[in-house]
Amino acid sequence: MNDHITVNAVKRIALVAHDNKKKDLIEWAAFIKELLQNHYLYATGTTGKVLATAVGLHINCLKSGPLGGDQQIGAKIVDEDIDILIFFWDPLEPQPHDVDVKALLRIAVVYNVPTACNRVTADFIISSPLMREMNERCKEKEIISN
Ligand code: PGA
Repeated sequence: MNDHITVNAVKRIALVAHDNKKKDLIEWAAFIKELLQNHYLYATGTTGKVLATAVGLHINCLKSGPLGGDQQIGAKIVDEDIDILIFFWDPLEPQPHDVDVKALLRIAVVYNVPTACNRVTADFIISSPLMREMNERCKEKEIISN
């Protein structure tokens, strides 16, 4: 059984930001637009719309987060269709879909997906040399044994 997930040079990046964090994500995405547009981008509905409008990125928009968009991204992670998760969640505001937020963060850890929850971590991920090359990511033990 293959215990590694192959990650291509062109990455599949999921972008999500809670309402109070959308400005941060827009600023970050605008700053590295040239780099981001070399990859396949996915986003929850509202995040995707604001990024497309404000930054001009081509984004595959899923449902809005509270309407199941976080779960759709989680399902893509399970299907090994997402390589990187950029999720600027809001630590200071309760969310109606908090269980979905937790589930997404949990499944990203289960599948060993590089995850950034703030801008500085997103900068570290996006500036990694691994962004430009094909590489492999270990699966978690639980996945290997199933
Ligand atoms: P949104 O969802 O992009 O539709 O605002 C984000 C979220 O809350 O998960």
